Amino acid sequence: MLPTRREKGAEYVLKQIGKLINELAESASAHILGVGLALPGEVDNQRGYCLYCPNLKWGELEVRERLTQETALPVRLVNDANAACLGEYFYGGGEGAPTFLSITLGTGVGSGLILAGRLYTGRFGSGVEAGHMVIDPLGYPCACGRRGCWETLVSAPGMVRRTQEKMKRAPESKLSQIADDDLPGLSPEAIFQAFRAGDSLARVVVEETIFYLAIGLANLINLFNPYKISLGGGVAEAEEILSSNLLERINANVFPTIRGKVEIFKAKQGYYGGVIGAASLWLHKIETI
Ligand SMILES: [Zn+2]
Repeated sequence: MLPTRREKGAEYVLKQIGKLINELAESASAHILGVGLALPGEVDNQRGYCLYCPNLKWGELEVRERLTQETALPVRLVNDANAACLGEYFYGGGEGAPTFLSITLGTGVGSGLILAGRLYTGRFGSGVEAGHMVIDPLGYPCACGRRGCWETLVSAPGMVRRTQEKMKRAPESKLSQIADDDLPGLSPEAIFQAFRAGDSLARVVVEETIFYLAIGLANLINLFNPYKISLGGGVAEAEEILSSNLLERINANVFPTIRGKVEIFKAKQGYYGGVIGAASLWLHKIETI
């Protein structure tokens, strides 16, 4: 594993990835079919291009060609949320579901959709962007330019922000006693820990998280009518998230015929789901739509 060092630019990052692949290839005993690369943004796998990766600050870039030059291996590209979806679909709990949604609650909210057995990539390769459906039009500004996207509410930074806003009004909470210097370290884990210890502020934040999570999931269930949904990422690690409270709220907001019929589970592949999904580009025949 290497730090991305995006500030050094795309050329540097791709060279480092190439170097790492070459090191791994030298020590590999098996035949290498090719490289599967997951990128955080829009990709065009047909042409082998990154179209736009805002977090890396990459615009249109000929990634496949550059990486093939570095490694002498064929390269396939996929969006990172779609990679996580493929990892869970082929090697996690999504197997056998004709329509399957994977949701990752991390730094942002990632989502991937298998639609009638095919990976839904849409016209520009990024597939569904469930994290950017608006839940509260008067809510927090989002990096995408809109307000109140699902991501601003149920991602890890979203959960932390809601906690920080409530701290001044709840001086008795253990969370409010965290020193200003330590605030950057405030995390969903710390909030869930305080919740388990009976902290009232943490309880409000966790209940709110479940409330917003249920609204978004109910929207997606009504839209796509999936067989299964996986929840992954740091926020979904806590057992309180996948609770009967969440399922009850979802059921109250979906069409009666679907109520209780969607299997919602914690992603089984966890942190490496995206890596496994990128590898699956070479191990499975993946049709896109
Ligand atoms: Zn947004």
